[in-house]
Amino acid sequence: MEDIYCFAGNPLDRVSERRRDTAWIDGLLADPKARILPLRELRPLTRGGASPELDWQPLDSWREAIDRGATLVFLGLGEGRPYFAVDASGTDLAVVDDADSFDARTLAPLLPAGEAAILGEARSLIDWHARHRFCAQCGSATRVTAAGWVRRCPECKASHYPRSDPVTIMLVVRGERALLGRNRRRPGNRFSCLAGFMEPGETLEEGVRREVHEESGIEVGRVRYLACQPWPFPSSLMMGFLCEGLTEEITVDPEEIAEARWFPREEIRAMVERAVTGPDDPTQLSIPGPVAIAHHLCRRWSFGLDGI
Ligand SMILES: [Zn+2]
Repeated sequence: MEDIYCFAGNPLDRVSERRRDTAWIDGLLADPKARILPLRELRPLTRGGASPELDWQPLDSWREAIDRGATLVFLGLGEGRPYFAVDASGTDLAVVDDADSFDARTLAPLLPAGEAAILGEARSLIDWHARHRFCAQCGSATRVTAAGWVRRCPECKASHYPRSDPVTIMLVVRGERALLGRNRRRPGNRFSCLAGFMEPGETLEEGVRREVHEESGIEVGRVRYLACQPWPFPSSLMMGFLCEGLTEEITVDPEEIAEARWFPREEIRAMVERAVTGPDDPTQLSIPGPVAIAHHLCRRWSFGLDGI
């Protein structure tokens, strides 16, 4: 079995083959067991304060908002119970105390693994609908169909589907050292794996080699896939690799990377341990916590669990 990271391991059965069956979906919406997760400005409603939980609500209080056109998506079935999400932005039903409002990235590590994955599914879909109201082909306003999994254009009849954007993220290894970079957009001492969006017409290995060369000037030889993670900000699939650095000298792309360095294995291991135990100490170098696949690439290599 592969490792399951945050936002992976969704326990719901999406029943994708029945989403277009409107009578069946209507039946689920009328089911008293149905639960709905409201997201306001992409933040899920939660309860529970210090150990928050997603605020799954009965559907009844949301029927009026749904009838008025609030975006509704069917997430799937779990133990016989239908689960939905609704875009509650702009509705007064979703007014919550800001203290109880978490963004998904902060909240996800506090949730049981499966719940974080459902939250990721809901967030990516609600966000996709908010940004794809018009047909990419003819510009007309599109309509939600297939229980929130398709937008259809009434003019040119095109169907538009939610997308996942593939991203390669990689730890470049050279003997007993590995390459980490510090992003220009992130101040402080936070280093991470290099990463970038795939481009049309390239394989995963070609994407890894291009991205590493673009950001650091390093030539990459062997590329080994390790694991992946859905990343709902807004809708990426992070595909994680270990790869072999063939050259030594670093030349960063100053547009994206403020600094890149070769770190000894034991230094990366110490950063992994610090990222698990506590909040960032701004005086020390750090890497992302276990919410992000970059952490696990660093962990698996620095603890000798995987090699290139
Ligand atoms: Zn159209």
